Amino acid sequence: MKKTRNTQAKSEILSLLNDSDKALSHHMIQEKVGALCNRVTIYRVLERLEEEGLVHKFVNVDGVVNYAKCHGCKEGGHLHNHVHFNCRKCHQVTCIENSVPQIKMPPQFIIEDYNFVISGICPNCQ
Ligand SMILES: [Zn+2]
Ligand SMILES: [Zn+2]
Ligand SMILES: [Zn+2]
Repeated sequence: MKKTRNTQAKSEILSLLNDSDKALSHHMIQEKVGALCNRVTIYRVLERLEEEGLVHKFVNVDGVVNYAKCHGCKEGGHLHNHVHFNCRKCHQVTCIENSVPQIKMPPQFIIEDYNFVISGICPNCQ
């Protein structure tokens, strides 16, 4: 019974993210799935999806964690070459694929991950 529920929650949340061009916060996901699952279930599902390489998360400019679908990531290994664009008008966050900032670091620092959110006005709001 419990397992079925979780599986259902997982496919529901995954299709939510897959159908959306935008990133979604935990709160937005909660609103959309409604009564189907509680906070803890959603966290667990998102964690699992992240481990499976289907979803990635990042911290938005307001400090809220957002989740978005992955393209071509593998289980246990995310490979991202994109930044996130936060629209100041509609507050929607879009993954901008193939936009890699060039960062010059002192040689003794090894970059493993980065978290870029760029703020501005999206095409819809111009
Ligand atoms: Zn990924
Ligand atoms: Zn916008
Ligand atoms: Zn992204």
